[in-house]
Amino acid sequence: MKCFFGRRAAVPFFAALLLAAVAAAAAAQGQARNPAFDAALAEQRPGPAVSRVGALSDYVPSLAGTALDSPVYFIEPGAPSPGIPAILILGGTHGNEPAGIVTASLFISWARPVSARVIVVPRANASGATWPDPDRPGPEYIVVPGASGERRFRYGSRLTKPGDEIAADPDVFYPQGTPAGAKGLAGGEARNLNRCYPGDAAGSLTSRAAAAITALIGRERVGAAFDLHEAGPSSGLAWDIVAHPKNIEYAAMGILAAADRGVNMVLDQSREEHRGLSHREWGEGTAAAAYLIETLNMGQVAGGNPAFDQLGDKKAPLWKRVGIQIETIQAILQAHSETDEPAGWAAIEGLPGIEALQHDFSKYF
Ligand SMILES: [Zn+2]
Repeated sequence: MKCFFGRRAAVPFFAALLLAAVAAAAAAQGQARNPAFDAALAEQRPGPAVSRVGALSDYVPSLAGTALDSPVYFIEPGAPSPGIPAILILGGTHGNEPAGIVTASLFISWARPVSARVIVVPRANASGATWPDPDRPGPEYIVVPGASGERRFRYGSRLTKPGDEIAADPDVFYPQGTPAGAKGLAGGEARNLNRCYPGDAAGSLTSRAAAAITALIGRERVGAAFDLHEAGPSSGLAWDIVAHPKNIEYAAMGILAAADRGVNMVLDQSREEHRGLSHREWGEGTAAAAYLIETLNMGQVAGGNPAFDQLGDKKAPLWKRVGIQIETIQAILQAHSETDEPAGWAAIEGLPGIEALQHDFSKYF
């Protein structure tokens, strides 16, 4: 309890320091920050282990001032050790998949890595958070009554807002590296961040954001990268881990470890037809082990359901979806810690597990 109260009191102080640092960095670049960037910042309550807030534009400078720039949080380990790779947690690729966004924000508030630096991008597509999905609109916000006050997480779209993008949608979109003769995607998918990897630093803004994330993985020497998503009830993807073949054994070990804690996930493998998706392109083009995690969003249905109770739905309440995302990440990291050298490198303390979230969800916000 002593530790808990100590953290609580510290959070606003650290948050104020960090916001001042971000403002100074933006001023030094001579760039006004985009409102989408500020909105992404305002959702977070950084814990004392957060040492710095950077931006995707640190990796692709032409993103500065655009709605595709987004905050990047650096969480320092208690016992830093040279040579230990970093861990990347990416939420908000799709703005209408709140469990991944909320999971990323709990990392920012609570994660205390033992040896590895943890890097969190809670709103990978900051523009996607700013407008309702035209096909599947939801509530404007998800409101969590929290211990630090009311927390609001915007419920957005899976695509970049059209007015934020500098490139017109093509008639047909072909992710980078699509083989000749292969079927393309609907033109609007050019604004789907998770079809734009590895990205193009001189391309559309959505593609530049993808390029920034790919560059971050390389420059920060990320060893394990997690892209957090949700799927609607008809997609068949919910409760799924998609892993790149090079690291699928860790995911298989993680599924067994998660099952020991009552969390049952299905394992899927990244394939050639997944061109442009995070798990495939991070796995192919970087040194990181690449994982995508999907939980179930019952509100993500054709036509949308703004009245759906994202927080308290009986089948898939938010505490359960977030708890499963955290337990799944921890189970896969446990596999890395037990298999790789040095032992224990990927351990993260301080995060609530599913039981703690079920017992008292509000306490962690
Ligand atoms: Zn998604």
